Amino acid sequence: MDQQTNLPSIGIVSVGKLGNLIPRVVAANIQGILDVPVSIIGEIEIPEETFILERRQYDAGLMLKILEEVSTNHFCILGVTYVDLCIPVFTYVFGEAQLGGRTAIVSTYRLQRGELGETISESVFYERVVKVALHEIGHVFSLYHCENEYCLMRFSSKLGALDSLPILFCDRCLFLLKRLIRS
Ligand SMILES: [Zn+2]
Ligand SMILES: [Zn+2]
Repeated sequence: MDQQTNLPSIGIVSVGKLGNLIPRVVAANIQGILDVPVSIIGEIEIPEETFILERRQYDAGLMLKILEEVSTNHFCILGVTYVDLCIPVFTYVFGEAQLGGRTAIVSTYRLQRGELGETISESVFYERVVKVALHEIGHVFSLYHCENEYCLMRFSSKLGALDSLPILFCDRCLFLLKRLIRS
């Protein structure tokens, strides 16, 4: 499918054993909302060098660099992982991306429970993963954060804020995104 179109394609790779369902749900939603070809590349092991011993977390920035090597055929590579990601200035991140680069990553680690550790429904969990994935892909396509409270490019560091977002970009961000995808 990727070869039959001139549109850039997005490749999804599991970082660690994640099962098939999460990558498939993410792929279907990206394809549906952004109207771009999406393929599931497969799985890589969790790169040991990304583990930060003193934080007991994984270096999101280094993960992004490693993902660059996974495929050269895709305009954008999205990693999906279950390990806890961090960057130097934040205690954790739901996901991370190279702004205007090629790679993005989303972690399910902080998305599988409520803010107080309570159980959440599967549908809320999948919605969260999809929202973070789309947000990070927006960054790969050079989008910055958006102030619109009904837009996926709004910055959310807390689950409550993430849950209140619809799985939609505002008109402006969607317009920019589709234009950047086709440029
Ligand atoms: Zn962001
Ligand atoms: Zn927006």
